[in-house]
This record gives sequence, C-alpha cells and structure tokens, in this order.
Amino acid sequence: MSEFITLTGARENNLKDVTLRIPKGRLTVFTGVSGSGKSSVVFDTIAVESQRQLNETFTWFVRNRLPKYERPHADSLEDLTPAIVVDQRPIGGHSRSTVGTMTDVYSVIRVLFSRHGTPSAGPATAYSFNDPSGMCPGCDGLGRTVQPDWDRILDPARSLADGAVRFPPFTAGTWQGQAYTSSDELDPHKPVGEFTAAEREFLMRGRPGSKVTVNGSGGTWTTEYEGLADRFERLYLKRDLSALSQKTRDLVREYLVEGTCPRCGGARLNAAALATRIRGLSIADCARMQVTDLIAVLKDIDDPVAGPIAGAAVAALERIEAIGLGYLSLDRETSTLSGGEGQRLKTVRHLGSSLTGMTYIFDEPSVGLHPRDVGRLGDLLLRLRDKGNTVLVVEHDPDVIALADHVVDMGPGAGAHGGRVVFEGTPGELEASGTLTGRSLGRRTAVKASTRAATGGLWVKGADRHNLREVTVQFPTGVLTAVTGVAGSGKSTLVAEFTAAHPEAVVVDQSSIGISARSTPATYLGVMDAVRRIFARETGVEPGLFSFNSAGACGTCEGRGLLHTDLAFMDPVTTTCQDCEGRRFREEVLRLTVGGHSIADVLEMTADQALGFLTDSGVRRRLRALQDVGLTYLTLGQPLSTLSGGERQRIKLATRLHRTGTVYVLDEPTTGLHMSDVDGLLALLDRLVDAGNTVVVVEHNLDVVAHADWVIDLGPGGGRDGGRVIFEGKPGDLLGFERSWTGKHLRRVTG
Ligand code: ADP
Ligand code: ADP
Ligand code: ZN
Ligand code: ZN
Repeated sequence: MSEFITLTGARENNLKDVTLRIPKGRLTVFTGVSGSGKSSVVFDTIAVESQRQLNETFTWFVRNRLPKYERPHADSLEDLTPAIVVDQRPIGGHSRSTVGTMTDVYSVIRVLFSRHGTPSAGPATAYSFNDPSGMCPGCDGLGRTVQPDWDRILDPARSLADGAVRFPPFTAGTWQGQAYTSSDELDPHKPVGEFTAAEREFLMRGRPGSKVTVNGSGGTWTTEYEGLADRFERLYLKRDLSALSQKTRDLVREYLVEGTCPRCGGARLNAAALATRIRGLSIADCARMQVTDLIAVLKDIDDPVAGPIAGAAVAALERIEAIGLGYLSLDRETSTLSGGEGQRLKTVRHLGSSLTGMTYIFDEPSVGLHPRDVGRLGDLLLRLRDKGNTVLVVEHDPDVIALADHVVDMGPGAGAHGGRVVFEGTPGELEASGTLTGRSLGRRTAVKASTRAATGGLWVKGADRHNLREVTVQFPTGVLTAVTGVAGSGKSTLVAEFTAAHPEAVVVDQSSIGISARSTPATYLGVMDAVRRIFARETGVEPGLFSFNSAGACGTCEGRGLLHTDLAFMDPVTTTCQDCEGRRFREEVLRLTVGGHSIADVLEMTADQALGFLTDSGVRRRLRALQDVGLTYLTLGQPLSTLSGGERQRIKLATRLHRTGTVYVLDEPTTGLHMSDVDGLLALLDRLVDAGNTVVVVEHNLDVVAHADWVIDLGPGGGRDGGRVIFEGKPGDLLGFERSWTGKHLRRVTG
C-alpha cells in the first residue's frame, strides 16, 4: 500500500492542474487566502472522489440506490482511503436530537438508570424520550407543548362581569361566557387576579357534578359547569383542528403559546422514568447539568456493578469536555448549537469510533474557539491521526497550522489568481518560504495605540438569559467594540440581548441568505436587472429572455444549471445539467452577445472582470462593494448556496456599506479569512466606523481584538463558570489583566 494519496492534474473550480502527494497517517493542513482553492482540493476533489470510488465497490443493485457522484475534474486520483467529512453544516434540526442523543452518551446513562436506579422503570428504553415506553404522554417526548396563553385570555385586573375573559367566543356577553358570570361559586364582580387558589381552580377546571343556570334564546336551563381551561382544551386543542374553520383556527392561534410541557416540566419523560433516582438525581436532572458537573457526579459512582457503566459515560463526557464543550448539557437541542460547536461534537463521535485507515476532513475547526481552547482541539486532531488515520484540515489559525506534519499552501491569490500549490512542507519551512501565508505566520500583532473616543453608549441592563448573571454593560457608540471570552462564556447570548434591546441594530451573521436557490451575487446585489436591460437594448429582444428564472431558462434544469437528487437518508446530490452544461440558458439565448459576451459569459465573470465590461454607474458602485468586502473572486453567477458562512456574511455586508449612524453587529467576521485578509476586513470595519457607524464584533481573532477601540470580555470560563463581564476597556489595558484568558493570549501574540 502506498504511503501517499496522489492527485494528478486536478482542475475542479479554479484549480490549475494541481498535482499533490499527501502523506497518509499524517496531519496535513491546507492554507491560503479565501478563494485560493483549498476546498476545491479537499472537498470537491478528494472527498468527492473517495465517496465515488466507495460507491463503485457496491453491487449494481445497491449502486442504483446511492447518490451519483460526478468524477472530479482530474487526470487521476490514487490510493485514496475512505473519507469522512466533519463540517460545520448544522446538525439535523429536529427537536428530538440533543447533545446526549447525538453523542450516544444519553444511551449509556439510560442503561445506568435502568440497571442501577431505584425504583427502576424497566429496560433502557423506558428512559428514552424517543420511545413510547419512556416519553411523556403530555408532549410525546418533545418537552414543549402548545398551550392556551392565559395571560392573554384572562385580564387579571378585571372581573368576570367586566370582561376579564378576553377570548371572543367566551366573553361575558356570549352564551358560552354566561357559565362564568352566572356561577354561584364565583363572585362576578371580583377582579380575577384577586381570586383565591380554590376560586381560580374552579374557574379553570370546575368540580365534578357542579351545575350552572344560564339564559338562552329558548329560555332558562341548568347545565353542567365546565371549567374555562377544560372547555378551551376540549374545543380547540384536543380535537382534529382541520374540522375548525380557517377563521377560527387563526383566532385560536392568537391565544396560544408554546411553552414547557406542564406534565413533565420539560423533562420529556413520563412519571415512571422521572421517579427513578441515583444518588437523589433523576435522569432529567443529569441531562440538565453541564457536562463538567455530570462528570463529577458519575465519577462518584464506584460500586462494582454500576461503576463500569458510569465509567463508560465519563469517558465519553470527558471527550466532550476535552474539546472545550464542557459547558453544554446533554439535554441541549442540537439545532441550537453554533456551527463550530456542532462540528466539534461530530469530532467527539469519531474519536469514540474504532475505525482506522480513514481520511478525516475538517473545515476550519477553530471557528468559535478561543485561543485558549485551540490547543485542546489540536490534541484531538492528533489523537485521530495517532489511531492510524489521515487528517486533512482547512485552516487559517496559526496555532493549528503549527501542529501540522505537512502543510499545503494554495495561492498565490484568489479565484482565477489562485488554484496552484505555492508551497509544500513543514510549518517551519512555510514560515521561511516567503509565501503570503509564510510571511503572515511570522508577523506580530500590535495593540492599537490610539483608540477612538465613544460618541455615546447603548446599555444592556440586568441581562440574565442562559448563563448571564445580571449583566449590566454599556456598548460605546461610534467605535469598534470586540466582545470576547472563551466558548460558552455568553458572548452570543449577550449580543442577542443587545440586539433585542436595540432593534435598530443591523445583525450581519453567517446564516443562509434565505433567498431562493437561484440567488447569485448578481441577483443579490441587484445588478442583474441592469445587465438584462443592457442585453435587451443591444440585441433588440425582451429583457426577460436573459433571466434564468423565466423565458430564457434551459428547459431541462429550469435555469438552475444543476440537477438535485434528494435521497432519504443521505445528503442530497447535485450534478451539472448536461443540456446547458451548467450555463442555465437556452441555446438561442446564448447566441445573443454583447461585445462578444453571452449572458452566461457575463455570469461567469468575477466582479473585477465585470467592472471592465459594465459601465452603468449604479452597477459599478455595487460591484465595488464586493471588492470592499474582499469577494472579488466570486463570479456574478456563482450560486449563493455554494458560499461559506464567512463569505455569506461578507456579501451581506456588501449590500449595507453605504449607511451612516447604523449599529452593526457581526459574529466572528474573520471566519474563513486568511491572516492577510484580516487586514482588509479591519480596514473595512474602520471605514464603517469612520463613516459614523457603530460596529460590535464577537471575535476570537487576536488581531481584531488588538485593533478594537473597546473590549468587553466575558468569563472567566464557559457555562456556569462564565456569564460575567470580567473586563471592559481598551485593549491596551486588557494586556495587563491577569484574570482574563483573552488578556493572556493577547499578551502572547503581542509580546
Ligand atoms: P477556498 O477553500 O480556498 O476558500 P474554494 O476552493 O472554495 O477556495 O474556491 C476556489 C475558487 O472556486 C473560488 O473562485 C470560488 O469562488 C470558486 N468556487 C468554489 N466553489 C464553487 C462552485 N460550487 N461553483 C463555482 N465556483 C466555485
Ligand atoms: P459564547 O457565544 O460565548 O460561546 P453562548 O452565549 O453561546 O456563549 O452560551 C452561553 C451559555 O448559554 C452556555 O452555557 C450555553 O450552553 C448556553 N446557551 C446558549 N444558547 C442556548 C440555547 N439556545 N439553549 C440553552 N442554552 C443555551
Ligand atoms: Zn411532557
Ligand atoms: Zn440546463
């Protein structure tokens, strides 16, 4: 067996006949500016080909049921090993997936409770909220239910006679409402908020056998009293909603809230499962604890029978802690995790596996990690390697690059200016190589000497969400503020509280752009209309013909250029449309040209190239915004769905650059940026601030922290150990601040 993975003549995306030998059983880091071609080598070539070759080993019958991967553009790819991609795509969003279920730790704890808890509810499934034998019947194991919004239905300041019931079908004048104003057991003139507990219980639930006399159109009669809550639930919740008119459904929806399930208190399990205790704790108590605390509890269980099971759980939990996620709890829904947290959890799962001889591929695993924890991440990557795997990492962080056995530096530039291997060797050799990455590695950061003065301040007061402890802090306006702290310290939570308190703030995050799958930089920036008009004017046909959303579209792919195949249990597969070869337009449309370029040619231009072709001033201003955010290497027609999180964030920023007096909030804007690109980002943020805006960034990158005018540092640790502001001030003053991890690391890179 060869000791290398060999790639010859790779030409995927911008790659220019790349030939590479990657050592097996080693940690190789791919570096280079964004858009240089790192992902094109690692994901679009190596990972795709590995998957394709693996699929070819199956029988024809199985193969027909597997995704069809196109062979990547390359002369040859040899001696690959099966690849596992550990990326930052959100983990399955459904609410039954938690940190505990996805890491399998929860199943170990279930076994522990079923065998060693008292009283035992039965076998291990009796503790599973995804199994009928364990789930809470009130919420089917979701922990949340839709309930009547009593704060809205009842006005506590009013009496029943005076309109305390606000839900229209039950109001005082109505036939249904009479039951409450006419009951002998309730004072119709007493404000509902002053009812005793017994009166309130009667109002809501009644009592078996209690009667009430009401006046209807057909006279007076006596009927069974039905409590307000019972009636609401019977009429609107415990029935087939499709039997109600749309109007009624819309009305009822206004009086409902989603809340913690009252039956299980959000614990998701039925009473029998929740009654079982180990050392006084229920399984729900264990799932609610943060991982570091749960480790301590389980380590204490040392009797000879339960000990080994507890020990297995501890081993898995320690892997979670080791990767810097000890502040999470097992009941945390995976849909609420950040991309970086999700990626690290997936890593934990692979560390527990006994597979060897695999190729593990990571996309910027340092995202969201404080410099304090990057070392621990490195240890995990090395452990994967030492189990006999090949580890490939796309990364910008100098601390991760330093750990590599081998570095492949792509470049020299982005897009058409990149696509070549500019260096291969050890990190030490890279630093001496003189490539852009090499030069960037060697440089020191300097803390900003003269910071801007604030023009005012925006407060967050008494914030206590998640782990925040009554945080009161001022965000200065007219300056660049960095919010820092280790992962889980509460940065995102604090910034979310800030934007909730100041809704005028513009959040520029990395979430998907939420427009159609057909969106491109041209449509997103709004230059596509102008381009179509130019083509219509010059060729004398309808502008609509130059839209791949309508008349001009290729019939086979309906203008997508791609064909999607959805598969039940796998990621969907995308292949290029054979008819238009991905050009999205019909043949006749492609024959119409302006200055020798078809509309498809224009969409294949980068912003730089398009600036040489398009003269419309509005279009040029928008394209320059793309230059400002460092995305000139994108082509006008590249689907936005192919952008990385960092690129998405920067293209959003590009559409918002020309404002003043705006508060911008950015979450880790350096994601996906090469060290040398960070300077460009800082220049952009400076321009925003100098134009009269306020910029708040959540950031781990120490160059950004050093360059900020103001730092708000949270900590000291994550989860329960965080949630306080431990420093607010200028970065220069943070240097001498002993208690802060951020200060410590800032000292290291500036010292
Ligand atoms: P890196 O990983 O170094 O940031 P990429 O390999 O993602 O770089 O991109 C290299 C070049 O290929 C860039 O110009 C990028 O815009 C382009 N590119 C990447 N993915 C696609 C795609 N799916 N379709 C078209 N162009 C792409
Ligand atoms: P940071 O941004 O500094 O990494 P976060 O604000 O994400 O920190 O998290 C702070 C604390 O709040 C952590 O203990 C985290 O587990 C918890 N937390 C964050 N988001 C949620 C959520 N959606 N549900 C429950 N807990 C959360
Ligand atoms: Zn429940
Ligand atoms: Zn087509």
